[in-house]
Amino acid sequence: MAMSLGDSQVPRAPTSLGGSQERFARMVPRLIDYVHYLGYEIRLGDLFRDPRSHGALDVQGVYGHPRSCHKLKMAIDLNLTANGVYLEGQAAEIAHNKIHDWWDTVGGAKRIIGDLNHYSVQYQDMR
Ligand SMILES: [Zn+2]
Repeated sequence: MAMSLGDSQVPRAPTSLGGSQERFARMVPRLIDYVHYLGYEIRLGDLFRDPRSHGALDVQGVYGHPRSCHKLKMAIDLNLTANGVYLEGQAAEIAHNKIHDWWDTVGGAKRIIGDLNHYSVQYQDMR
C-alpha cells in the first residue's frame, strides 16, 4: 500500500455525528490523492445533499436514497476520467474496484452494488 491515512491523523470509530463528519473530511483528500496516484482525474459529483432540496433524513428527495450519507455530509461521488475520457462500463468498474479496495483498508464504508462512484463512511445503518 503506497498511501496510508496514518492512525494519528484519523480518529477511529467516532460515535458522534460531528466526529464522524470530521473523520470523513480527513479521509476525502487522501481518497482524491489515491485516485490521482492511480493515474485518473476526477470530475467531482455530489457530496452534500441539502435537505432543503433533497428532503430530510428518511424523506425521499428528487433522487438518491432517503437515508443516504450524502445528507449527513459523509459521502462523495467521484466521476473518473482517463486521458480526458469519462470512464464508463468495464473501465469504470476496474478503476472503482481498485479505489474501493483501498477505501476499505482505511475504514471507508463497504461499496454499494450498482453505485460504484460513491465513497462514504458507515454511520449507524447508513453509508
Ligand atoms: Zn453517492
